[in-house]
Amino acid sequence: MIDFSFSRADSVEHALAEAAAHPGAAFIAGGTNLVDLLKVDVARPPHLIDITRLKLDAITESADGVRIGALVSNADLAWHPLIRERYPLLAQALLAGASPQLRNMATTGGNLLQRTRCYYFYDVATPCNKRSPGSGCPALHGQNRIHAILGASEHCIAVHPSDMCVALRALDAVVVVQTRAGEQRIPIADFHRLPGDTPERDNNLEPGALITAVELPPEQLRGHYLKLRDRASYAFALVSVAVGLQLDGDVVRDARIALGGVAHKPWRKREAEQLLIGKTREAFPRAAELLLEGAQPRALNAFKIELAKRAIVRALETACA
Ligand code: SF4
Repeated sequence: MIDFSFSRADSVEHALAEAAAHPGAAFIAGGTNLVDLLKVDVARPPHLIDITRLKLDAITESADGVRIGALVSNADLAWHPLIRERYPLLAQALLAGASPQLRNMATTGGNLLQRTRCYYFYDVATPCNKRSPGSGCPALHGQNRIHAILGASEHCIAVHPSDMCVALRALDAVVVVQTRAGEQRIPIADFHRLPGDTPERDNNLEPGALITAVELPPEQLRGHYLKLRDRASYAFALVSVAVGLQLDGDVVRDARIALGGVAHKPWRKREAEQLLIGKTREAFPRAAELLLEGAQPRALNAFKIELAKRAIVRALETACA
């Protein structure tokens, strides 16, 4: 662990000014991922800015939907009546993640920024393009059971670890970001990145920018979050599926399907969702096939393709039930 300096921000403007004054600084709130990264020497920010005193911990409703402050904890979000009633898919995804202790500490903004759980990324004795650009990717021909089958590159095959973000992708959430130049609103689809030839960048946040909120549009979807993992709790997804359906009797009027555990970002394919419009559950297997089209397994993770197809069908069936 390296030496770093520390300051505590008392407003968003103060936090942004501190970030501008300390290039390479990191914001810290719950610290449930960043402290791990500091301890194993993967993150080396010269300065930490504590943002826990900012007034970003409210969940508010308006005609445009629901706004979730970036400092709302994962536990408070999962158990909030508005979320449980209107966005049960999000509540299910949050409660599938981590442990109660971690959910009490982890924040909405931090969850968006958590980094991959690739074993090599956390082991500074090994090369890793994400941690040290240009050093190589040992996962390509190594332990790649948990790695990506969609959207990967020869530079990185890591997956995004979040459950919350998979639900946000299905819900078409918007990430609200504050920079010194003003506010930005980034659709969740554009927030996280595929690895391409810059796997060191997980998202499209500008340096020094601060996530202040996540907005959810008004929804009337029947949702379900299905997470498949090696053990029943406190494990990252091998495959997860967030589905949202609007039904007219048995007929699908709108469909959203987002996958976790398979790519560098939560994965959606609009064609697979459109295939379901006007159809009944007989079409679910075809949508699953289309979503997994082009999947590229590695030596140890081909099982994820069939697992994902079956999980999609099961999640859709459960949402219908
Ligand atoms: Fe690093 Fe990505 Fe390769 Fe894992 S998959 S070793 S994070 S470059």
